[in-house]
Amino acid sequence: MARKFFVGGNWKCNGAAEEVKKIVNTLNEAQVPSQDVVEVVVSPPYVFLPMVKSILRPDFYVAAQNCWVKKGGAFTGEVSAEMLVNLDIPWVILGHSERRALLNETNEFVGDKVAYALAQGLKVIACVGETLEQRESGSTMDVVAAQTKAIADRVSNWSDVVIAYEPVWAIGTGKVASPAQAQEVHDELRKWLAKNVSADVAATTRIIYGGSVNGGNCKELGGQADVDGFLVGGASLKPEFIDIIKAAEVKKSA
Ligand code: PEP
Repeated sequence: MARKFFVGGNWKCNGAAEEVKKIVNTLNEAQVPSQDVVEVVVSPPYVFLPMVKSILRPDFYVAAQNCWVKKGGAFTGEVSAEMLVNLDIPWVILGHSERRALLNETNEFVGDKVAYALAQGLKVIACVGETLEQRESGSTMDVVAAQTKAIADRVSNWSDVVIAYEPVWAIGTGKVASPAQAQEVHDELRKWLAKNVSADVAATTRIIYGGSVNGGNCKELGGQADVDGFLVGGASLKPEFIDIIKAAEVKKSA
């Protein structure tokens, strides 16, 4: 079964209502490949989720940028997976490096969140990736494998999981991984899944790349055999996000 190209837009903690509406209008007017070719998911800040969901074209979906690790209750400031399900929000991004680094989310905590969100019926974009220091010390694959293992230890059904490989040194830095660097880690990750989960999960799970993807570099990155799409930060706030969605065509003609 072919893996459908996936393009996610992570708006992070950006925008006010008017800007958010403008971005949605641009998306709504865009000519993009059909849903058979590309799955598009945008992730506004929590407070804008209902509004974006209500005005966004029906062939694009929304994701939350995080959710709580278990059932809601006395957890001030948190939003539970059940609340997202209640609002018909289909996707959630978990384990983003900004949360791992700034909010001290450990591999185990992220694994618990992924398992809980899936159990509630959410689909998950699970982020993994190494720091520059880890890459330079040669431990990229150990780091990425440990992050993925913490998820694999807790999850049995991978059909609603997309793995986002996002090298931390490439996020928001303008320093994109080369197509060969991205392909190498995606290939290793797929081999890791084959060995530690199953051949079927390895063959069907989408592994998307994130880190300074833009309208200029997306086609070459997307053309790599094991790159199944992108998670896009900065450029997802701009009209060039449309070009990134269109990069899905490289797979169709491959
Ligand atoms: C991200 O935040 O997931 C990301 C990849 O950001 P950027 O595209 O800005 O590097």
